[in-house]
Amino acid sequence: MLRLAAALTAATLVASAGYAAASASTAPTRPTVSDGAVPAPSSASPHAGSVSRAAAPLAGTTIVIDPGHQLGNSRFPRQINRPVAAGGLRKACNTTGTATNAGFPEATFTWRVAKRLRAMLRARGATVVMTRTRNSRALWGPCVDVRGKLGNKGYRGRTRAADLKISIHGDGAAASGRGFHVIVTSRRGAVVRSARLGRLTRSALEDRGFRRSTYTAAGTALVRRGDLGTLNLSRIPTVMVELGNMRNPRDARTMRAKAGQRRYARALAVAAQSYLGR
Ligand SMILES: [Zn+2]
Repeated sequence: MLRLAAALTAATLVASAGYAAASASTAPTRPTVSDGAVPAPSSASPHAGSVSRAAAPLAGTTIVIDPGHQLGNSRFPRQINRPVAAGGLRKACNTTGTATNAGFPEATFTWRVAKRLRAMLRARGATVVMTRTRNSRALWGPCVDVRGKLGNKGYRGRTRAADLKISIHGDGAAASGRGFHVIVTSRRGAVVRSARLGRLTRSALEDRGFRRSTYTAAGTALVRRGDLGTLNLSRIPTVMVELGNMRNPRDARTMRAKAGQRRYARALAVAAQSYLGR
């Protein structure tokens, strides 16, 4: 209930930003469909295959990273509040996201972790698809329907489904609570595989020293929800991670720091790799 209340409050806040101020019209961030490279096979030797596998354990895989929100969302209320199909329900295209009490935006936090994660996954041979490729106050979106569908087989010409998706967020809960939680879909479909990815993500974050949420999920740090377009519309194993509570001073310090961002990214890279069995 607490989660639901928080979500409703956020939605209400965004809705109250109003439609009147919108006049500018700017194209939303355009997701890239091919945004990485599989390394060339190593030269012929009796051990070429194993060497290549060790150097690039994620070769041949495609991973979607969804850095939550866009920095300019608050400047485009008409576009951001527009309802879109979100898997059996309609929801606002997106929200502004939250921020630390000092004003460090969630969009920038998710972007920085996503960029580090992208570099780590590419270094291991993965092809990475991003739902947005810039962090700019001049841009908005994409909407949750695009974020949800990107990576699905058949969407935007994709002939093979991506292997998994990680949607990166920071929470904006009451300041006293801290810690991460992982959200997976409660819908049918990719639910079983997503649940496994969720458990591995939790383990990877804990192994990197992050604490489970103290304010939701009853200490499990795992939540199932059926009201999120990003999860509802995805047909591949998907987790949404709330990496910390940006309103909590201790979490905010970690989320603001480069070392903290790097540690989050490392944990997510480990989760992806262990899920893929590489
Ligand atoms: Zn968010």
